[in-house]
Amino acid sequence: MTRSTLRPAALGLALVLLLLAGCSREPTLYDRKFLAFGTLVEVSVYGGQRKQVEAAIDAVESQFRYMQKTWNPWHPGALARVDSLLGTTDWFSVAPSVRPLIVRATELSKASGGLFDPAVGQLIKLWGFNQDARPDVPPPDPKAIADLTAQNPRMTDIQFDGIRVRSRNPAVYLDFGGFAKGYGIDRTIDFLKSQGIHNAIINAGGDLRAIGRHGDRPWRIGIRNPRGEGMIASVDVQGDESVFTSGDYERFFIYKGVRYHHIIDPRTGYPTRDTTSATVIGTDGATCDATATAMMVAGPKDWYRVAKAMGAHYVMLMGNDGTVYMNPAMAKRIHFETKKPPKVVLSPPL
Ligand code: ADP
Ligand code: MG
Repeated sequence: MTRSTLRPAALGLALVLLLLAGCSREPTLYDRKFLAFGTLVEVSVYGGQRKQVEAAIDAVESQFRYMQKTWNPWHPGALARVDSLLGTTDWFSVAPSVRPLIVRATELSKASGGLFDPAVGQLIKLWGFNQDARPDVPPPDPKAIADLTAQNPRMTDIQFDGIRVRSRNPAVYLDFGGFAKGYGIDRTIDFLKSQGIHNAIINAGGDLRAIGRHGDRPWRIGIRNPRGEGMIASVDVQGDESVFTSGDYERFFIYKGVRYHHIIDPRTGYPTRDTTSATVIGTDGATCDATATAMMVAGPKDWYRVAKAMGAHYVMLMGNDGTVYMNPAMAKRIHFETKKPPKVVLSPPL
């Protein structure tokens, strides 16, 4: 046989093999969206067998439904029961679905010096941010805010005795809105890993944890512009990383020209000023979520100290005037997507 007769035959075989491979290949990106925790949750999985992946995503969706019900402080459920019993200051047995959140939130609150403190649920309610759609009413009476703030509800008021807990302070009312999404994403990412899924993202309204890669490239994450449309920046993540952003644009109202939003400074009882958004990248979603909330309270003047105390390695804050504050390691990863890059103030390394 001569070379010229061999070649077309070999080519034909290669073509058939390629076509066969094309027919049997499963779609490589699985995607599912559903509502939970008052936001759109998107689960994306890269690669794997369709049946197995679909079953795992079904399970993630039902876990989210369970968590949002169990950890809702404002509707009858496990957390609402805990909250009503904390108000009695007596000892009681706490549900196993809630206890780990109290333990973790207490650790995170201590690390933040009380700037992240989910014991401020009554203040959240006073401001009307316990409802998905806050009625269009003025801010609460300043005296009511001052009275509640003076009662100083803190995670450190909670005492543990095995499965029993009590609060020394009747004003403690737990609202885990500042870190439950992160905690829930961690649990469901753990679950996906246990199912042999190693390339995935769980994204709850821009707060997410990503594992593995999107094929041969990292996952690219957009960071929303707190004032205006679209993205202000993007960042690549891979391996196992979480990206959490808190902002004054998620839930807010404007009264007499002043913006009041859903993140409350436990020291004053008022929504924080100075910062429009705070982004934290790390491994553990719950920690990043709580740290981002604490950064909103700490603001441009104090964020570095609090970030260090909370063990953060990548932090970015946007000030009211558009100035961006971040640590040098974060600056290396952030790509601004705006026409004109913003003014950046770098901190010492974290
Ligand atoms: P989002 O839920 O919009 O992503 P956050 O993670 O910052 O933003 O959570 C905001 C929620 O955290 C509020 O709706 C409220 O339930 C709760 N919260 C508000 N202020 C504090 C605070 N100082 N510490 C802990 N939780 C807070
Ligand atoms: Mg948060």
